[in-house]
Amino acid sequence: MRLFNALESLRSRLPSVHAVIYLLFNEGYLSTDAEHAIRAELCDEALRLGTLLANHPVGAAPPTFALLALGQRPDTLFIACSDSRVVPNLFASTEPGDLFVIRNVGNLIPPYQEASPAHGSEAAAIQFGLSTLPITEIIVCGHSECGAIGALSKGEGHPTDAPAFNCWLRHGAGSLRELEAGASLGNHLERHNQLSQLNVLEQLEHLKTYPVVQERLASGQLRLHGWYFDIKEANVYEYEPSEGRFHLIDESYAATLLNRDRQRP
Ligand SMILES: [Zn+2]
Repeated sequence: MRLFNALESLRSRLPSVHAVIYLLFNEGYLSTDAEHAIRAELCDEALRLGTLLANHPVGAAPPTFALLALGQRPDTLFIACSDSRVVPNLFASTEPGDLFVIRNVGNLIPPYQEASPAHGSEAAAIQFGLSTLPITEIIVCGHSECGAIGALSKGEGHPTDAPAFNCWLRHGAGSLRELEAGASLGNHLERHNQLSQLNVLEQLEHLKTYPVVQERLASGQLRLHGWYFDIKEANVYEYEPSEGRFHLIDESYAATLLNRDRQRP
């Protein structure tokens, strides 16, 4: 799409280029021969652009990927569940190259452990992403009807026939304790979906245990966001700290968020 738009923009400017050449010719800056030569060159260029556009219709993916092969410059680290119904690029309205993504069962982030030499792939992705890519935003996105969170809601250590999965869920145990202590966040939702929202906030806290995240937050180079995707509604909510709840990202709230973003130093 980017290549297509660039070509379309170039082609739309050709008439004004012709007008400039005509002006230059009239003012005596160009000889007749020079004017003819430039016009002939521009006609050839227009034909070449036309052919390129015809070969790359709207929606064709190859030009984007060809450009992205030169390198990625995503500004957002997106942390989502492995659930097949959660498609980050689709509901976050992004193009290839926009998001650096971590996906795992339950969108969990193990807290940083200074003493441990092996932190797992999540820690590696956080460190790689923040140290080598121009990331300024991290979004942790939970979702409704999450199988992992559903299992967690049955109780910490609730036995399943998948011991590694059981062990992994310990990274969401804090949110379960909050739910059991009577947390009010999302209490209009079913128990497992309420836990899913609480879990997003817990994972944001886990992110803050990483030194690289702490440094970027302290210097104002990074912002953290909590999202919740409701599969039934196909709606996305963002945690609004001033309201203490997840707020539907509709047109008016999106405008509020964008405006807030513009006002940042
Ligand atoms: Zn899930």
